[in-house]
Amino acid sequence: LNRRLAEFGTTIFAEMSALALSTGSINLGQGFPDTDGPEEIREAAVRALRDGRGNQYPPGPGVPELRTAVAAHQQRRYGLAFDPDTEVLVTAGATEAIAAALLGLLEPGDEVVALEPYYDSYAACIAMAGGRRVPVTLRPHEGAFRLDLDELRAAVTDRTRLLLINTPHNPTGTVLTRQELTAIAELAVERDLLVVTDEVYEHLVFDDVEHVPLATLPGMRERTVTIGSAGKTFSFTGWKVGWVTADGPLVSAVRTAKQYLTYVASGPFQYAVAEALRLPDAYFTAFRDDLRAKRDLLSAGLTDAGFTVFRPAGTYFVTTDIRPLGEADGLAFCRALPERAGVVAIPNAVFYDRKEAGAPYVRFAFCKRTEVLADAAERLRRAFT
Ligand code: PMP
Ligand code: GLN
Repeated sequence: LNRRLAEFGTTIFAEMSALALSTGSINLGQGFPDTDGPEEIREAAVRALRDGRGNQYPPGPGVPELRTAVAAHQQRRYGLAFDPDTEVLVTAGATEAIAAALLGLLEPGDEVVALEPYYDSYAACIAMAGGRRVPVTLRPHEGAFRLDLDELRAAVTDRTRLLLINTPHNPTGTVLTRQELTAIAELAVERDLLVVTDEVYEHLVFDDVEHVPLATLPGMRERTVTIGSAGKTFSFTGWKVGWVTADGPLVSAVRTAKQYLTYVASGPFQYAVAEALRLPDAYFTAFRDDLRAKRDLLSAGLTDAGFTVFRPAGTYFVTTDIRPLGEADGLAFCRALPERAGVVAIPNAVFYDRKEAGAPYVRFAFCKRTEVLADAAERLRRAFT
C-alpha cells in the first residue's frame, strides 16, 4: 500500500457489517434501508433491462433521460437551472462523485477544509488526490453538533482550494441552517474558494427543518459542486446512481476524472432513477414522515437504555453519547456491543482526525423496519438497564 493510503485500512462499514453477520446481530451500523425503494421504480428498472436500454455502455455523462430529470428536479425543488448537457453528470453513486470532484479539482498540496466528523471516503479521496485535509470540528451545542464559524474562518489559509461541506450531515444528523450556510458562502466568495457540497440526504429532513442547497445562495452557483444520490433519495443503495450539478467548467473537470474511474456505470438503473426523480411530492413526504417516526422510536429506545441522544434534524442516523453508560471509548464499545446486546453500531471516532473529540460518540442507523428498531431498542434496554 502506498504512502498516500497508508493510514486507511478496511472501512468501518465493512468491518461492522461483517460483525453483524458473524454474530447474528441487528445491523444499525452501515446505513442502508432494509426495505427497497418504490415498486414502480423497480419495475422501471426491469423494463429498461428487458427493452435493452442501458445494457451496453451508456453515454459517459449519463443517459440524457436521467440528466434531464436531475436538472428538472433541481429546478422544481430549488429553483436552480442547470443545462442537462453541460451542467449535470451521472456518477457511480455519490462516492464516485466525491472522488472525481476531488481528483478533478485539487492540485497536489492543496488544502481542503472539511467538517469533522466527515464521511469516511472524504479523507481517503483527499489523500488520493494529493490534497491535505484540514478538519473543522462540529461540537455539541444545545443538543446538536454545530459549526463554529470563527473556527471555520481560521482554518482557511492561502493554500486552501476548497471547502467540503455535507448537509444534512452524516453522522451527526445536523442540518446546516441558512445562517450557517450564508456564512460559508460569504467566506467562499471572499477567499475565492470552490465548495463541494454533499447533499445526498437532501430529502431527509424532519419536523419543520429546511434543507438549503448551498448553490442557491448568492455568488455560489458558479463555485459549487453539488452531489446527490439515488441510494439515499430512493432507497436503492445497491444501484450506485449518483449525480453532480454545477457550472459547466466545474462539471467538465469532474467529468474528466470520472471518465478514468468507472467511465460509466449502472446503465438500466439510470433510466429507472430518471422516473424516480419525477415522482410526485407525495413520495418524498411519505418517505420523510416514515423516517421521522423511526427516528422517534429509536431515539426513545436509546434514551431509555441510558444513552444521551442527539436528536437528528436530518439523515437516517442518530448520534449518541455513551458516557452516561460509564463508557468512554466508542470503538471498543462498538466492537463489544454485538456480544453484549446483539446490536451493531458505528463509532463516530473513525470520522475524526481529532480522534479524542469523537471518542464517546456512537451512531445508530434508523432506516430499518419498525419491528427491527423496536427489537433493537429492547435489546439495548435489556443490556444496559
Ligand atoms: N456521502 C454521504 C454523506 C453518505 O452518507 C454516503 C453513503 N453512506 C455517500 C456519500 C455515498 O453515497 P452512494 O451510496 O451514492 O455512493
Ligand atoms: N453511507 C453509508 C453510511 O454512512 C454506508 C456507505 C458504505 O458502506 N460505504 O453508513
